[in-house]
Parts: sequence; C-alpha cells; structure tokens
Amino acid sequence: MSDLSDLYQEVILDHNKRPRNFRAIASPSHHAEGYNPLCGDRLNLYVQVDGNVITDVAFQGSGCAISKASASLLTEALVGKTRWEVQTIFKAVRDMITTGRMDSDLGKIVALAGVHKFPERIKCAVLPWHAVLAAVGGAGTVSTEAKD
Ligand code: ZN
Repeated sequence: MSDLSDLYQEVILDHNKRPRNFRAIASPSHHAEGYNPLCGDRLNLYVQVDGNVITDVAFQGSGCAISKASASLLTEALVGKTRWEVQTIFKAVRDMITTGRMDSDLGKIVALAGVHKFPERIKCAVLPWHAVLAAVGGAGTVSTEAKD
C-alpha cells in the first residue's frame, strides 16, 4: 500500500471517528433524507442557503464508516458554494467514487477515490451527495435504489 492511499484511509477514519457538522440545523432552508437499503445507511442532510450561497451544511443519522465520512467531508466542502455548483460537484464526486479518477479539484474529498475498489461501498459513499442534491433540488427523500 502506498503512502498516498494510507493518507486517504486516514482521512476517512478520522472523519468517521470525529464527523464534522454532525448536528441538526434548527430551521434549514433545505433538508433531505438519504437512505441506502443495501447497507442500512440513513442520513438526514440539512442545508442553509442564503441568496443562492450555501452558508451551512450539517448531517445526522446512522450509517457505516464510509457513508459517515463521506457526509462529513461533504459538509466541509459545500459551504460557500452556490446551489447550482452542488450539481457539478455531485457529478465530479460520483465519477471519482465509481472510477477512482481524481482529475477534479475536489480537495479533501479525493480521500473517497479509493472506494471504487470496493463496489459494495460505492452507494454508501455517494449517498450523502444524493441527499444534498435532493435537498437543494427541493426533494424530501432519496434512496440509492430509486431511479434518477
Ligand atoms: Zn454503508
């Protein structure tokens, strides 16, 4: 195992152990629940949008280490982005998680690139991103097993 993948693994372990923004937002402008029935991950994503800019993101729920770490990284990555940018970032993250390609400027989120080697974990990693996309798009609930 290279030092690089050790580092990525460390980021995931750290975000699982100490998830960032693991809380509710009292009256969020946007909210959605994400559910991955294959693993049992269930996360609530809270998003505060002022104007069109995301000013706060938080999550609660229960899930495996990968879904929790992914949600934690998400909450840090999206503050300061616009609602429209969420779609672009979602696509880049999903591509990276499914292919392992890290050609986008995704910051710490590249820690999730290694997930592509574990196909059964891909839905866990993408779940919070599905949920945040549903939230800013005005949908209430999203399941990894639903067609999009
Ligand atoms: Zn999971």
